[in-house]
Amino acid sequence: MKEIICKLLIIGSGPGGYVCAIRAGQLGIDAVIVEAARPGGTCLTVGCIPSKALIHVSEQFFDAKRMAAGKNAAGITVQQPAIDFGKAVSWKDGIVGKLSSGVTTLLQKSTVKIVHGTATFRDGKTVEVDTELGLQLVRAETIVIATGSEPVELADIPFGGIVISSSDALALREVPQKLVVIGGGYIGLELGTAFAKLGSEVSIVEATAQLLPQYDADLVRPVARRLADLGVRVMTSTKATRVSEGALIVSTAEGREEQLDADRILVAVGRKPRASAAGLDELDLDRSGPFIRIDDRCRTSMRGVYAIGDVTGEPMLAHRAMAQGEMVAEIVAGRKRAWDKRCIPAICFTDPEIISAGLTPGEARSQGYDIEIGQFPFSANGRALTMQSEEGFVRVVARRDTNLILGLHAVGQGVSELSAAFALAIEMGARLEDIAGTIHAHPTRSEAFHEAALKALGHALHI
Ligand code: FAD
Ligand code: NAD
Repeated sequence: MKEIICKLLIIGSGPGGYVCAIRAGQLGIDAVIVEAARPGGTCLTVGCIPSKALIHVSEQFFDAKRMAAGKNAAGITVQQPAIDFGKAVSWKDGIVGKLSSGVTTLLQKSTVKIVHGTATFRDGKTVEVDTELGLQLVRAETIVIATGSEPVELADIPFGGIVISSSDALALREVPQKLVVIGGGYIGLELGTAFAKLGSEVSIVEATAQLLPQYDADLVRPVARRLADLGVRVMTSTKATRVSEGALIVSTAEGREEQLDADRILVAVGRKPRASAAGLDELDLDRSGPFIRIDDRCRTSMRGVYAIGDVTGEPMLAHRAMAQGEMVAEIVAGRKRAWDKRCIPAICFTDPEIISAGLTPGEARSQGYDIEIGQFPFSANGRALTMQSEEGFVRVVARRDTNLILGLHAVGQGVSELSAAFALAIEMGARLEDIAGTIHAHPTRSEAFHEAALKALGHALHI
């Protein structure tokens, strides 16, 4: 059996693993990365990137359909828009291919050795990789587990036939006529909205009383309104029970059994860590629920073994995985680092988009803060009006005694791009006066952020 000896071995080349490897290479660490599938992981190949490409296509097509129906307020009309969905999917696949090759190039540039195959731990320092050319042994001083996560399967509604996962949904070559989505969380809403805009008749079945239960109700309301405009049927407090002859059987809030006809049933009820793959059970690492338990340096319970990304818990977001990966590479290089982030912004790419950074008003109050809230609507923002997107608002939550900003939230078209300003403000410990005293360029949606801070200080200018 061939053998590689290295300082650092990373298992998994998702956003956590590949960023860790690139940074390690930059720091002169002799690093090896093992990947069973395509470089880039869930995010790049079946997650963030292909889903956002599909959302973009669906928005363009939907806008064209509205224009054709004479519903464009600015007077643009088009004749009978059509979509070649196969071409759209090929375009999306092209982007994924380009970015995945880009990851390989970046790893090579950082002199990271890439081993293609499935890794299995022999012990805390040795991993066996099943490659196309046979077994390869890798011995490393330090190992980083970045094996990510996979979709949760429902016991009574297993994947197969018309029951599909998000990865399958992103690989469809035809737009389903009737799509039933189980789970009104991130994936259910992002993909459910996209398919509704592409022409599917969409129903969303959510077990809890609210769509996107992880976000507060004020942020979710505009999204629910939009889904209603799109003709999406939303069933909250409803449980999916079984599949029967091309239909999903659900138990409604009122306790009635109902049949939802479907060409496809997308199950999007969460993701589970790949914490048992790679022989991880044999290592017997401490767990935090289903996840691998880590400390503030991403160390596991075994010396020399780190874990990053989705396999370590919520929030299962690419940018968290990347930040952990970068930190671990620096720790392995001997730098003093620990997890000290004040916030991990979260965005739901719905219509309109939602962004949440830091504490919501409810969370701030329950942590004992006396708070001031400033909220500014996009209906009073010039740029939003010129973009035909006056729905939504920016909200700032700050301590009443010091004006320290605790949370920033927004719902509205394109607000995902405000995430950088929001995260920076919280990370740098900004106060309301810092935002109020910063010139925000006109006309931009970011002026709503400025105005929300002014509002919390009691002197908003444009409302
Ligand atoms: P992953 O990206 O899951 O990568 C793990 C890698 O490890 C995989 O490539 C896998 O093949 C490899 N691997 C596993 N076991 C082995 C083994 N034994 N040997 C070799 N290789 C192995 N997050 C966002 O922040 N923004 C978004 O917009 C967003 N959209 C999403 C949309 C969808 C549809 C989905 C499913 C997820 C989305 N996410 C999004 C979540 C994001 O994809 C994950 O948080 C992120 O990919 C986690 O990165 P990771 O490095 O921990 O693991
Ligand atoms: P999720 O946790 O966001 O949503 C799952 C939803 O399914 C919840 O609302 C839950 O109440 C509901 N549910 C659970 N069991 C159910 C049942 N039996 N019947 C009906 N509803 C049920 O999970 P997801 O949408 O699968 O996404 C997985 C993860 O991927 C997310 O938590 C997030 O970390 C990541 N993700 C992020 C983005 C983004 O950042 N924009 C996009 C997609 C995915």
